[in-house]
Amino acid sequence: MERMHVTILGCGSSDGVPQIGCKCTVCNSTNPKNNRTRASILLEIDKFKILIDAGPDIRLQALREQIITIDAVLITHAHFDHIGGIGDLRAIMFNRGIKAIPMFADNATNKLVKNTFGYAFPGILESNAFFGEFSLLSPNITVIPFKQKHGKFFSYGFRIGDFAYSTDVNELDENAYRALEGVKVWIIDCLEYHTSPTHFCLDDTIREIYKINPAEAIITHMGHNIDYELLSSILPSNIRLAYDGMKINL
Ligand SMILES: [Zn+2]
Ligand SMILES: [Zn+2]
Ligand SMILES: [Zn+2]
Repeated sequence: MERMHVTILGCGSSDGVPQIGCKCTVCNSTNPKNNRTRASILLEIDKFKILIDAGPDIRLQALREQIITIDAVLITHAHFDHIGGIGDLRAIMFNRGIKAIPMFADNATNKLVKNTFGYAFPGILESNAFFGEFSLLSPNITVIPFKQKHGKFFSYGFRIGDFAYSTDVNELDENAYRALEGVKVWIIDCLEYHTSPTHFCLDDTIREIYKINPAEAIITHMGHNIDYELLSSILPSNIRLAYDGMKINL
């Protein structure tokens, strides 16, 4: 596999930061790194552009990062903040020459997405179900999906080469640890400082990072309790906070 470039399109919690009507210091911060749209990333590998999740901010994220076309979209799970922008992929389908975008998700997620965005199938998207490791767009790109506990629900993490993405997770199992073994750059959920029934929070996130031991960990899906400068200043240098527009090269 050739080099991989990752762009953080959004690193915010489900409400986004600032949260509507909130008066807290992070929501009212002038630091653009405290302005977080809903969680999504773009991977560029071998000239292919792969989107992971299409949340409700995808239109503004695509405009901001000048994304004109994508080659595939992977869906972690069917919560609104990860699929709410699927209708906005229509413009990208047109930019592809009116060619539906291949979407990859597990069977259950495919069904949930189709229930919510029935009109998008077929036409905007072409659905594909994965049942385990699969190659994507090229025999050189292998995706290893691994199921993650997300409260009473679930999400999928994705391992691609030396990179892995684990958003919306509060517990990993042996299968996930196997998939994450030896990963160099790991993007991982951290909703806030305290505890959550559905997400890793700071103590969990740090514990899992030490367990997996990637060269670099990047924290995402952050809520409005997390101030970029404040938390960044106390973390070791191999654990960084994501911010919208951040780029990581592997
Ligand atoms: Zn989420
Ligand atoms: Zn706030
Ligand atoms: Zn979720």
